Order: sequence, then C-alpha cells, then structure tokens
Amino acid sequence: MFRLQTPAFIFDEVEFGRGVAEFRGALEQRFVRVGIGYSVKTNSLPYALRQARKEGCMAEVVSHDEYELARLCGFTPAEIVYNGPMKSKETFIEAVSGGAIVNIETKRELEWLQELPAPQGAGCYNIGLRLNINISRISAEDADGEDDNSRFGFSDESEEFAEAIRQIESIEGVRLAGLHIHRTAHSRSPRFYEHSVAYAASVIRKYDLRLDYLDVGGGYFGIFPGKPTFAHYAQAFHTPLHAAGLTDLRIIVEPGNALTASAFKFITEVIDVKRIDSRTRFLTTDGSRNDVDPFFHKSDYLKEILYQTPDRPAENLQIVGGCSCLEYDRLFTLTDAPRLERGDRILYNNVGAYTMTLSPQFIRLWPRVYALSADGTLKEVRRPARAHDIISFDK
Ligand SMILES: *Cc1c(COP(=O)(O)O)cnc(C)c1O
Repeated sequence: MFRLQTPAFIFDEVEFGRGVAEFRGALEQRFVRVGIGYSVKTNSLPYALRQARKEGCMAEVVSHDEYELARLCGFTPAEIVYNGPMKSKETFIEAVSGGAIVNIETKRELEWLQELPAPQGAGCYNIGLRLNINISRISAEDADGEDDNSRFGFSDESEEFAEAIRQIESIEGVRLAGLHIHRTAHSRSPRFYEHSVAYAASVIRKYDLRLDYLDVGGGYFGIFPGKPTFAHYAQAFHTPLHAAGLTDLRIIVEPGNALTASAFKFITEVIDVKRIDSRTRFLTTDGSRNDVDPFFHKSDYLKEILYQTPDRPAENLQIVGGCSCLEYDRLFTLTDAPRLERGDRILYNNVGAYTMTLSPQFIRLWPRVYALSADGTLKEVRRPARAHDIISFDK
C-alpha cells in the first residue's frame, strides 16, 4: 500500500465478483429466469461498468447520460435497464427498439411510444411501467412516518396506473411486459421486499397482467456480518410470488450499494502535522471528506491506519482532517492512539457506494483509481482529473 500514489480509490475485482455471484446464486436457487442490473449511479467508474458486464450484469441507468456511458462501456441496448425521468426521446426509442428493459416513469414517455417505428414482422415492443409505492400503506413497519409516499411511478391509488396501462395497450405493436417497483426502505429489510412484491402481485392479479418480468429494484445491504443476506432477499421475493402463482416471472434486481460499497477502498497519506495546544494534534491528509462522505454525515469509517514504522508513543488527541479549506473537512478523531507522522497512510474500507459519483469539483479534482485483480496485481485504471479536463469544456 506504500507503493500506491495517494489519494486513490482501489477497486477490488474479486470482492465485486463475489457479490454478483452470491446474488445471482441466491436468485437462481429460487427462480428460473433472473437478471442483475448494476446501478450505474451508485458508482459509474467505467472500469467497474466493464467489469459488471464481464460478470454478466446488465447496466441499470437512470438518465440519457448514464445510458450513453453504458453504451460506451460496451453494453448493447439489450443489456441495459433504462429507468428514471431523465431519459431522452432519442435514447428511449433506441433502447425500446433494441430490446432493453425500459421502465416508463413519465407521461412524455407514454407519448414517445407513438413514435416507435413499426415493429418488424409479427414482433412487438416490450415496455415496463413503474408502479408507485407508498411504504406506509404496504409495509408500515418499514415506513418513515405516516405517509411515506413516493414521487416515482404511476399510482394505483389514483387513476394514473390504470390509465397508463390503457395507453400502452392501445398502441399497436406495444405490450406491457413488466413492472418496476424500486423503493428503498431505511430498514433495507427483507420484510419490506416481501410486502412490496406482494403488493405488485396483487396489482398484477387485479389487472390480469401477462408479464415477462418483475423488476424489484435496489436497496440491499451488501455482505456484512449480522445483516440480511442475498438469500434472505431472494426468499422475500419468492414467498409472495409463490403464493400468487407467479414464480415464472423473470426477477430483475438493481443492486448498487450491495455490490459496490465493499468493493472500493480509498487510500490517503498524512501530508502535515500541527500541534495547536498541549494535547491536540491536527493531521492533514491528501484525501477529503468529499471523497468518502459527500453528504458529510459520517463520524467514523471502517479504516485501517498504516504506520510506516512501529512503536510510536501514544498521543492524547489526534484529529484527522482532509485536504480542502473547509474547517469541517475533518474525517475522524483518534484518542490515546499511536502518534501519526507525515507519510503514514489511512485506508478507508467500504467506500464504493455514492462516493465517486457525488464528488464535486471542489479544490482538488477526482483522484486516481487502481484496480486490484485476482492475481494480486494493482493497475491504474483512471488517472487523476486535471485542470486541463475542466478547460476542455470551454467553448
Ligand atoms: C438508486 C437506484 C438503485 C440502486 O439503489 P442501491 O440502494 O444503491 O441498491 C436501483 N434502482 C433504481 C431505480 C435506483 O434509483
């Protein structure tokens, strides 16, 4: 770890592959047809996208920019799950025509369906629809308050879900092929998925829908001791579908956090030490809270301190800060710990989810990324961003 140039993220390919394989195994034990859509917004590093494709994942994208990034990383339209309100008409039509899983989120997409070219021969276009989920109504134990509603999907409590189905079915050559029910409960509990899938099954029955797939979305814990496993989640999907006679549906999951969190580490180096009074040492590191805690709500990390030399005397209070000029760019505090010196390093584990995609262009641009492969070799897969990159947008 002392050969690496800091600051840097480290992508652990083996850990990533293990998550994909475990989730797939848990699903395949219970369902004949399964699909894993890697949530691009959770970590859009192109190298990770290519790795996800190698591991047999689709790319789950929520904007035309992410759609284009997935295409540039080698995903064909048929290997893409296209969600969210920020689709463009052009990419929407390409995706539907090319056999992507496209889940409609907005009314303008219903209108765009009219502009599809006539399907070839006896074929037809498959389209999915996102169902609105109110957690208070379907799983009160997992709800945040009395009315944990959602601004996404079409609601079956209003007329809009029925109306969207009617509109889809009125277009020749287009059929409703799937439902999308992504919603994240704070608890991330399997019980929530059992309830949301049961709700989806009741809607499928109510309208007598003949679907190919149910896309249950993301929101899962990764592999952590004491937390639900992929088997628990897969069972939570299976129980209500079995009860409704719907286990022949293809089950699609869209994990982000569960696959990326533990697959990325971040390494920084102490670049300066200051003593401000008899007990307090401030350490400045070349990483920032912006790299590993973009919402500024963490108070500690799954960290390892890599001392260059052993047998350091203990220090009363050491405050580890970042490289930005924000006073509150402070990462964690050590009490009665061995003295940190310039050149020592800090390795932050489990920092792959919603970190790199939320990094601002603040003071120091995006850091470099190394990939750690199965044979133990480390290679640089992204150089650090430079001022030159920012200038290149200028007109
Ligand atoms: C964010 C998101 C995901 C991934 O969520 P995680 O909590 O990272 O698993 C999956 N699907 C959709 C539609 C999303 O918006």
